[in-house]
Amino acid sequence: MPSLSARSLSKQGDEGLAIDWSDGHHSVHTWQHLRTNCPCAGCREERQQPPDPFRILKPSELSPLKPVRLEPVGHYGYKIVWSDGHDSGIFTLEHLRELCECPSCQGKQKREPPTA
Ligand SMILES: [Zn+2]
Ligand SMILES: [Zn+2]
Repeated sequence: MPSLSARSLSKQGDEGLAIDWSDGHHSVHTWQHLRTNCPCAGCREERQQPPDPFRILKPSELSPLKPVRLEPVGHYGYKIVWSDGHDSGIFTLEHLRELCECPSCQGKQKREPPTA
């Protein structure tokens, strides 16, 4: 069982989501980044497709997507309902924490080699 829990979630307007964690960490997420990492089977499959140059852009790719609702799922995650009606992605707390875009987490993900 993960001991990590979210103390509070707050919507940062059209920009993104901020989460206060039980360990004191404050994470920031842009909606774009969350949607790009949607964990549902449909989006995972779509991400695995090779890019098709003749593909017609979907309306959702032309206008930025907005979240309509954020619904808690049990005690382990949140479901995001998007403005295009997509609602099958459930973000677990662990996944949300992995997707944190704050400078310190970003630094951890791609650490620069120490310079002498
Ligand atoms: Zn999805
Ligand atoms: Zn972080």
